[in-house]
Order: sequence, then C-alpha cells, then structure tokens
Amino acid sequence: MPTYDYECKVCGHSYRKFQKMTDEPDKTCPKCKGEVRRLIGLGGGVIYKGSGFYTTDYRSSEYLRRSKEESGSGSNSSCSSCSSKTCSTCGK
Ligand SMILES: [Zn+2]
Repeated sequence: MPTYDYECKVCGHSYRKFQKMTDEPDKTCPKCKGEVRRLIGLGGGVIYKGSGFYTTDYRSSEYLRRSKEESGSGSNSSCSSCSSKTCSTCGK
C-alpha cells in the first residue's frame, strides 16, 4: 500500500498516511481543518524534508551494517587460521 505525504497550507502540519490508490485524497488538516495538499513522491524517492530524509538515512546505514557483516564472514572463510585476506603467513 502506498504512503502519501500531506502538508497543511494553513498551519504547515505535515503527516504521512497509508492509502489505497483508489482512496480519496485527504482534503482537510487533522489539526486545524484547513486545506491540505498532497506531496507527490518522486518515484518513492527522496523528499528533502522532515521524516522522509530520516527514512533514507536509516536505510543506508542499515545497508552498510549488513554489508559489513557479510564481508566479515567472507574474510573468515578465505583464511581460517589468521582471518586475513592477503595471507602470507599460513599460505592458504
Ligand atoms: Zn493545519
């Protein structure tokens, strides 16, 4: 289910909402009942503001952490004795 970002034209309150494609878009602010506009995500991409930026940041650090773990186990299998990729000591 896609998420949509809304921003209130009146008080500036922004929020995110899960909605079906077929659902009617929100028109009123949950805080002040003012008019809201839907922020169109660019291919689910980066919105350089608020929580959108935080989400992207979190994903990339999570990805880095995982790839680090994978490369760690990879180096172990390349040399079991000294756990070095360029091993000249044990010759494996
Ligand atoms: Zn508002």
